[in-house]
Amino acid sequence: MSGKKTDQAGKASTRKSPATLVTQAGRDPSAHFGFVNPPIYRGSTVLFPSVEAIETLDQPYTYGTKGTPTTRALERAWSEIAGAADTVLVPSGLAAIDLALLTATHSGAHILVVDSAYQPTRAFCDTILKRFGVTTDYYDPQIGGDIAQLIRPETTAVLLESPGSQSMEVQDVPAIAAAAHEKNVCVILDNTWATPLFFSPHAHGVDLAIDAGTKYLSGHADLLIGLISANAHWAKKLRTTFNAFAIGAGPDDAALALRGLRTLHLRLRAQEQAGLEIARWLAARPEVSRVLHPALPDHPGHALWKRDFSGASGVFSIVLKPVSKAAVSDFVDNLDLFGIGFSWGGYESLILPFDCAPYRTATAWAPEGPALRLSIGLEDVADLKADLAAGLARLRG
Ligand SMILES: *Cc1c(COP(=O)(O)O)cnc(C)c1O
Repeated sequence: MSGKKTDQAGKASTRKSPATLVTQAGRDPSAHFGFVNPPIYRGSTVLFPSVEAIETLDQPYTYGTKGTPTTRALERAWSEIAGAADTVLVPSGLAAIDLALLTATHSGAHILVVDSAYQPTRAFCDTILKRFGVTTDYYDPQIGGDIAQLIRPETTAVLLESPGSQSMEVQDVPAIAAAAHEKNVCVILDNTWATPLFFSPHAHGVDLAIDAGTKYLSGHADLLIGLISANAHWAKKLRTTFNAFAIGAGPDDAALALRGLRTLHLRLRAQEQAGLEIARWLAARPEVSRVLHPALPDHPGHALWKRDFSGASGVFSIVLKPVSKAAVSDFVDNLDLFGIGFSWGGYESLILPFDCAPYRTATAWAPEGPALRLSIGLEDVADLKADLAAGLARLRG
């Protein structure tokens, strides 16, 4: 029911700068007695004034699972920022991936998933979707327009994630989208790394864009939420699937996400700057073999990143020169400021050793040394460098 309004807002918003957009989007103080932010509406039952009204469902809110003014404020804001026709909210980023895939598949369908996708995405395809008769093929992240050769008559969706989880390959999203649309295949992108502020998904041909708001939108490691935005062609199908599952995000989580949204641009820019500074510094260190950061000119995906993205977040990976596993553990375990843990995008820096080799099927992951992913937080860059320098000295010692 909010489709048309958000559509128009989405179009108008493309002229606003990102900073103005994140500050303004989705707000309607006049609907809440002038309060700047929407209150947290908790509710299942919504009352109707008459039998006729409940029969026609002719009012903005009809039942708790269909949304509240709190959740709708975030949906509208996100649609505007992503340039989407509609957005739905779910309780995690993984739930967003699952729901997007279920929107664009059916029994007997074939789907294409990038080999560098977030590993739980693969698990969903290889277990649940498989059980419902959906076949998944994994493809090389660098495939570009040649994806056309993998599309079969029964192919319904292609899933992209750019840059790839941990390994950081950048995909040619417009080329893949063009080839997919030629055959009526739905284009799904996990856009969590960039957020719509640094990669505008629907303007690049994406039908369904996923964001694990758990990461940068939350920004404080205190929230799990997922967002799926859709272009006009897919908005109704997405909303129908969402309503059938009724797995919306709660109003408290939507309010926390709205709070995170208002500083998203500032945090991303700060983490981009700090991330780049640390990435460049690491690239010059003798213990480091390669830095996998798309904004560095020697990254294989740099040209695509430069063409399509308007920024880089603070997440990147490094490959060390060959050292023992014990030495890597000594480096990581004894860092003072970098935490060891899943997720990223919070205000605090994280580091995590990783190995994609066990689950890759279309492409090999065989780096020359141990690989680590870093998420740069909002700490002082000099302090972070000193922490890493001491760690790298442990690697040598
Ligand atoms: C973390 C992550 C997800 C999943 O988000 P959750 O909210 O933790 O379920 C999905 N995609 C990517 C790229 C992620 O990094």
